[in-house]
Amino acid sequence: MSDRSQPLSQAMIRGFVGRCPQCGRGKLFAGYLKPVGECAACGEGLGHIRADDGPAWATILLVGHILAPFLLGVLPNNPWPDWVLAAVIVPATLTLTLILLPRMKGVFIGIIWRSGCVGSEK
Ligand SMILES: [Zn+2]
Repeated sequence: MSDRSQPLSQAMIRGFVGRCPQCGRGKLFAGYLKPVGECAACGEGLGHIRADDGPAWATILLVGHILAPFLLGVLPNNPWPDWVLAAVIVPATLTLTLILLPRMKGVFIGIIWRSGCVGSEK
């Protein structure tokens, strides 16, 4: 039984930490980005919620805003060889992206679940 009376922020935070947006106890993901079909704790159906490109968009936005000030501050007066800069920027970008992508997907699933607009699949 869906109970969407909680605040949107709570559903978003639960999604961010990879928990069911309804109860906050069950896991949201069965894999890196694959949501579980139903919450193991409360039975809420989550597998039919499609976040589409929203999480990728939010991840690019955040990673860009986190790394852009560093790049703008370092590149004009770069004291290091280019390969050193690349050896720092590329892993930082990949790491931030891989950390943030499932969290952003959880946030979007939380928003979609809380709004009740879960699509035509259900
Ligand atoms: Zn649950």
